[in-house]
Amino acid sequence: MMNLLITGGAGFIGSSLIRHVIDRSEITKLVNLDCLTYAGHLENLDGIHGIHPRYLFEQVDLRDKVEVLRVIRQHDITHVMHLAAESHVDRSITGPGDFITTNINGTFHLLEACRAHWFDQASGIQNGASKFLHVSTDEVFGSLGPHDPAFTETSACTPNSPYSASKAASDMLVRSYHHTYDLPAVTTRCSNNYGPYQFPEKLIPVVIQSVLAREPVPIYGDGMNVRDWLYVGDHCEALWSVLTSGKVGETYNIGGRSELANVHLVQMICDLIDELKPELGGHSRSLLGFVPDRPGHDRRYAMDATKISVELGWNPAHTLETGLRETVVWYLQHQGWVESIARG
Ligand code: NAD
Repeated sequence: MMNLLITGGAGFIGSSLIRHVIDRSEITKLVNLDCLTYAGHLENLDGIHGIHPRYLFEQVDLRDKVEVLRVIRQHDITHVMHLAAESHVDRSITGPGDFITTNINGTFHLLEACRAHWFDQASGIQNGASKFLHVSTDEVFGSLGPHDPAFTETSACTPNSPYSASKAASDMLVRSYHHTYDLPAVTTRCSNNYGPYQFPEKLIPVVIQSVLAREPVPIYGDGMNVRDWLYVGDHCEALWSVLTSGKVGETYNIGGRSELANVHLVQMICDLIDELKPELGGHSRSLLGFVPDRPGHDRRYAMDATKISVELGWNPAHTLETGLRETVVWYLQHQGWVESIARG
């Protein structure tokens, strides 16, 4: 049985994860630790927050070491899924400071708190079953050329933005806590997620909102930067299998087998909106416009997710076509959520 801590549970993936796992029989209680930055919204947990009997919320900043330890001890946390982070590459370019303090120092505080609570301080023996799942990103690997093979778990980390560098640093800390202190840790690295409740600063919601407003749709550079796309619900299922069955000390790549250039992804969204909202007049592709590229923009990411498929039997349930359709439909039906988030 788990007293599960999810950090960043008011964010995009964290809130989806909470909805995905809250009713699993293995969970006794689920504590959501989130300080509610601009990216954290309790509206993402409608129907759970303040209602679900197993759910508790702690508004705590990971940068507050004392409070992090208090939460781990007070709730006798046995399992951690660590998602809280500053996550937007563009923001890491204009203001890297919060990325260093949250992604690196915050992860350090969480590791220290788990070490203090999970091990008998005198004997060094582990107190009981526990696991620390660190959620990371394909961006730590850096950029691929057009014909390079996809990243595997043993590819070198060569991060190129302050965001990916801060995530890589946190990955290294997690690795070191396993090797040095036997902390039962496991790391996942996932490709780009999309789906409901994604903050409207990331590519897919930005494009949907711009097309609906008949405003220009900005695409960086020549639009040929390639990403691998995974539906957020599939990511959550992968995280649950790694938490429950993944081997301690290991890293697992997670990917959607859906590599696509940004411009082609944006065209797919335009076509879906033309089909689903014909009253807008169609021809949404004419809204596309290229804007100067962002500094250090990685050209291509691709993930080889063979290991998680073979060892844990996880495979994505959605194709990009089915997942993107569900996502566009969700945004069309939840414009009230978008307006509330934008106001916040
Ligand atoms: P998000 O920005 O939507 O949510 C982050 C959450 O963390 C927010 O609720 C925010 O309030 C919280 N948070 C930030 N700083 C905090 C702090 N100091 N203390 C406590 N809480 C804090 O991010 P997301 O897209 O849901 O990503 C979640 C995790 O998954 C991140 O670690 C990210 O690196 C990783 N990841 C994301 C993607 C993606 O495509 N979104 C892909 C791979 C990995």
